[in-house]
Amino acid sequence: MRDKRFDVLFEPVKIGPVTAPNRFYQVPHCTGMGYVLPQTLAAMREIKAEGGWGVVNTEYCSIHPSSDDTPYPFCSLWDEQDVRNMSLMTEKVHAHGALAGVELWHGGLRSSNLHTRYTPLGPESVPVNTNPLQSQRMDKADIREYRGWHRAAVGRARQAGFDIIYVYAAHTYLLAQFLDPVLNRRSDEYGGSAANRARLLRELLEDAKEDAGDSCAIAVRIEVDNEDGSTQDRPELLSAIVPYCDLFDVTVTDYAREMGVSRFVNEASLEDQVAHVRALTGKPVVGVGRFTSPETMLSQVRRGILDLVGAARPSIADPFLPAKIRDGRLDEIRECIGCNICYAGDGQGVPIRCTQNPTMGEEWRRGWHPENVPAAHSPETALVVGAGPAGLEAAHILAKRGYGVILAEAGEELGGRVAQESRLPGLAEWIRVREYRVHALSQNAKVSIYRNSTLTAQDVGDTDAEHVFIATGSHWRRDGRGRTSVTPVPGLGGEETLTPDDVMQGKRPRGPVIVYDDDGYYMAAALAELLAAEGCAVTYVTPASKVSEWTTHTTEQAQVHKRLCDLGVSIIANHALNSFAAGQAELACIYTGKTLIVPSAHILPVTSREPNDGLWHELTVGRTKFKTIHRIGDCRAPGIIATAVYDGHRAARELGQSASDRPARRERVCL
Ligand code: ADP
Ligand code: SF4
Repeated sequence: MRDKRFDVLFEPVKIGPVTAPNRFYQVPHCTGMGYVLPQTLAAMREIKAEGGWGVVNTEYCSIHPSSDDTPYPFCSLWDEQDVRNMSLMTEKVHAHGALAGVELWHGGLRSSNLHTRYTPLGPESVPVNTNPLQSQRMDKADIREYRGWHRAAVGRARQAGFDIIYVYAAHTYLLAQFLDPVLNRRSDEYGGSAANRARLLRELLEDAKEDAGDSCAIAVRIEVDNEDGSTQDRPELLSAIVPYCDLFDVTVTDYAREMGVSRFVNEASLEDQVAHVRALTGKPVVGVGRFTSPETMLSQVRRGILDLVGAARPSIADPFLPAKIRDGRLDEIRECIGCNICYAGDGQGVPIRCTQNPTMGEEWRRGWHPENVPAAHSPETALVVGAGPAGLEAAHILAKRGYGVILAEAGEELGGRVAQESRLPGLAEWIRVREYRVHALSQNAKVSIYRNSTLTAQDVGDTDAEHVFIATGSHWRRDGRGRTSVTPVPGLGGEETLTPDDVMQGKRPRGPVIVYDDDGYYMAAALAELLAAEGCAVTYVTPASKVSEWTTHTTEQAQVHKRLCDLGVSIIANHALNSFAAGQAELACIYTGKTLIVPSAHILPVTSREPNDGLWHELTVGRTKFKTIHRIGDCRAPGIIATAVYDGHRAARELGQSASDRPARRERVCL
């Protein structure tokens, strides 16, 4: 049973004419599914409602073809077919007693309309996104037309069964463009004074309120500051729209903060900026803050910061978070680690994935449920070798299915790479990958865990297990092979070479070090940060054009670059490592080949990893006595933590399942 203190989180909240059954509110969040994958999307949203979220919203939902974000997946309510597709979601959300909300969206000059080829619209004619295009400055007729499109979309949203309809005035989209005093230089009644810049928003809200009638609430998603971070005019603006809004979904313009990774941003980080909105508006307020702690949620509500606890990522990592609080199962919450891999999917135009929740995005395609797994057909035993993310997830799912599980780990510590990596600067929350799984395993009597147990092929052969999962991970290469050089880099591998594993295990350079990043994700910059903070002279070199280039997908690239600058790290981009010898590295410009000599006592190549697959190969030559043997995670193919968890999950979930029990449906337009 839950602690009575948490009852307040389960109080209904009136939002205009509708009532949310509790305070758990899944804010609009992108999914990489959009209008192209309506069944995939509806099944995923349904799971949130089943898990207890009182309100479940769509992602950004385009009102008209002039707001087309292709190649990034978005929802749409352009026509009757869209109404039918979106109804799928509302029906599924309603089936669990939750309210369904839709975030009506027009991107303005942030929609390049590459697919529809409509001319991008905006308050001004300025360059659009990263494409060589400019927007059309909207005249009065354009504005009238836009209002008409929005009204029509409100009508379609009602038809589709939505309970909450958003007027979306944040995140640099069209309405935010009008609100912004720097961008909006218009001299007509839609520019200049704060009241003028807010005119369009007010008109849209008025229209929406009138059309929504008694059946739908009107929410506004809006920032409490201007794009330059100033708050000038914002309180007046929020006050002015109160009569037309049933709910304020508030945030800040600094997206790297709102959507901050745990490396740089803590839980509840927006509190200081949004705390005043509730008193200012007198309306229900929802806000986010990567809330994973029930105590923090309670505190936000008790202290009157928020009425509804907004969540995107915590609801992705654990769609059953509300149900677990409701039932007093706090120890079962699968906490978001703040890595933003979920966001990276959308930016790459593919369905969402999550490090902590491998079922995310697979609800429809594979029929995976985040809490339920198919029972094992027979109570056999599985041996899992290696307790990194892949091994832990496999062991967890196998045990949950009813298999006996023997988990053997070479080291004293469980967690494999996450145990090591979570000790790097800013990555402490990543240990949650281990904590969730180790706790679940500790609750299951059918699991035996052996530490300090480096298994040989002989040891594995001596066990009575019917099934074996090899999850022995990988190690960083010492020879510089990677993306840029598929052959070893001359001079690497000697005493002066350190690998990420060496540094994570405590070895340190004795003098200046070059961190060579041919990997592009977090590792090289995290090591550079660690060493520089300890006082080491660090030069960061990468063939890419940016520091930690891939972290643009996880929203943290600018913060990473700034952090290195702040620590005095020298940065050399667009250069590959040719060789390292006699205390100096030879670099070459990736465009001209022109060489550059950089003296350094040490070199730390962060290039690629070697799978630890020796055990697997030994066990699979010739006949094996086991019913099944699998290699999973990094020992199969090194990747990100999410990939290892997913691989372990899939292998464990599908063990003993027939092909028909393992659907892999494909959603597509069929003629
Ligand atoms: P993954 O990301 O695929 O889970 P990790 O590298 O994080 O891989 O974890 C692999 C784990 O396997 C490490 O904790 C390592 O100590 C352990 N390990 C490697 N070889 C053996 C072995 N022969 N016996 C037991 N454990 C092993
Ligand atoms: Fe959280 Fe990472 Fe999952 Fe996103 S991918 S929900 S940030 S754990």
